[in-house]
Order: sequence, then structure tokens, then C-alpha cells
Amino acid sequence: MKFLKYYLLIALLLLPAAGAWAGAKLELQRLTDIAYAIVGELGNRSPENLGNNATFGFVVTAAGVVLIDSGGTYRGAQQIADMIKQVTDQPVVRVINTGGQDHRWLGNGYFRQRGARIIASEKAVADQRQRSRDQFILLSNLVGSDGLQGTEAVYADESFAAEFEFTLGDTRFEIRHSGQAHTPGDSYVWLPQEKVMFSGDIVYIERMLGVGAQSNSKSWIDVFEAMAAYRPEQLVPGHGRATTLAHARKDTLDYLVFLRSAVAEFMDSGGDISDIGSLDQSSYRYLLNHETLAGRNAQQVFTEMEWE
Ligand SMILES: [Zn+2]
Repeated sequence: MKFLKYYLLIALLLLPAAGAWAGAKLELQRLTDIAYAIVGELGNRSPENLGNNATFGFVVTAAGVVLIDSGGTYRGAQQIADMIKQVTDQPVVRVINTGGQDHRWLGNGYFRQRGARIIASEKAVADQRQRSRDQFILLSNLVGSDGLQGTEAVYADESFAAEFEFTLGDTRFEIRHSGQAHTPGDSYVWLPQEKVMFSGDIVYIERMLGVGAQSNSKSWIDVFEAMAAYRPEQLVPGHGRATTLAHARKDTLDYLVFLRSAVAEFMDSGGDISDIGSLDQSSYRYLLNHETLAGRNAQQVFTEMEWE
């Protein structure tokens, strides 16, 4: 009997480590006294990560919490809320969606039910409306109906064309949409007092970024530079751990510039799109998901450049 108890205890202790415990995959990163990153997995959406395969952020002000991106599902949003509770008892009063990708906004419903006001750029809301059906199909395949429980398409209460600013407690927030990047409505959130930048999907760290049909690699470069002009001391990317601007340049901007010039060269030498997979991207092999994304990115940039 004593042994049985012992084994039960060991089994319980091992459970979270085995990944059976959804939520174990989010990591809290403290940046300043009030600014935090919540870092999700770098891989794809799964039943375990509940669609939270991205990085989120939050800021604790004297008048409540501001959350940057609400997670990929209702239950994923609940996990994010649990992480915030580790730091403060204050409620989430505002949610900013930095873009139109699923993990930026499909947790909105959870926070709206609890009284939060949701803010996003007009272009992000239009993108969300246009792609929500496809996003639900993708999530039901990858996360499953259990993980999707309670998830609904809930759109922003307030939207803006290019700029939106507010002060909550004593904390100043400046949101900017400077053009299309990973998605048409990507925006970044700047905290001038903290010198912290939340870049959303404008920046990918440690993993290869994705250029998709909803992206524009050319203006993505300009948007990156517009964001970088604020000279953030700390940067919370859309994917990966919070880091420096220099690291963001290396993993995101330099790759975009490299990819576009490599594809341009390929086109100039008469290369056909069917051979674009042969493009040498080995210098970016250190980025995670390289195998699945490199060829697709080159193909997308090729298609884009044909129209430029
Ligand atoms: Zn993303």
C-alpha cells in the first residue's frame, strides 16, 4: 500500500513533464517592472498548445492589465489569463490584436466576456473577417474540437487606420500600423516610458518567418525599419523569446533582405519558379522550421516579385 502511494506520487510528478498537461508550454519572461512576455512554442498549433504557438505580451498598469494578442483559442486565452494571474490580480481591461493571424485574436471572446475592450487596426479586422473561416478549419484540424471549445470570432470594439494612443494608469501606449508585413494589418505597440516594443508578427526570433499569400515581403522590410526607428531596448517578437533589436534584425530583417535579393538574382538568370526549391538558403538553416518554410517562402517571394 505504501509502495502504491509512492508510485502514484511519482506518476503525478511525471505527468506535467510528459506534456500531458496543457499549458505547460507557455513561458513567462519579465522585461521591466510592468512589462512581460508570454512565450509559446515555436512549432505548429497542436491540441497541447491550444493554438498558442506564438509570443504574447502584457503590461500591468495602475488601472488594469493591457494584453497584447489574445491567443489562438478560447481555452488558449484562459491559459494566458492564468499566466497573468501569476504576476497580478488586476483584470485585463484592454486587448490589442497586432494582426490578423489566428493566434493574435481568436482568444478575444474570453477577455471580452470579462469586460476587456479590444483594439485592432482596421486592416487587421478586415483580414480577420476575411480569413476567420479558413482559420477555424485549420484549427479544427490541428488543435481539434476539444481545444477549440468556446472559440468564436470576436472583432475589435475600436479600430484605427494608422495610429492609436492611450494612457492607462500612468502608462503610455502607442500603437502603429505602418503597412503590410506578415499580414495586411500588422501593427506594433510601443511603450515610450519602458522603451519596450511589442512587434507582433513583424519580428520572428529563433524560427524562420513565413511569407504567405497574406504577406508582402517588400513592405515588410519598410515596416520593420519604421518599427526599429523607435530604438527599443527590449523587443517582444511575434514568435520567440523577447530580445534585442539587433537580434531581430539578424533573424527577421536580414533574412527578408537576403531572400528578396536571392530570388531577384534567380529570376534575372532566367530561373523558372518550378526550380525555386534549389535556391541556396543554407545560411539560415539555423532557424527552426527551416525545412518546411524555406522553399515555400522563396516561391511566394517569386510570385510577389513577378508583379512588382
Ligand atoms: Zn504568427
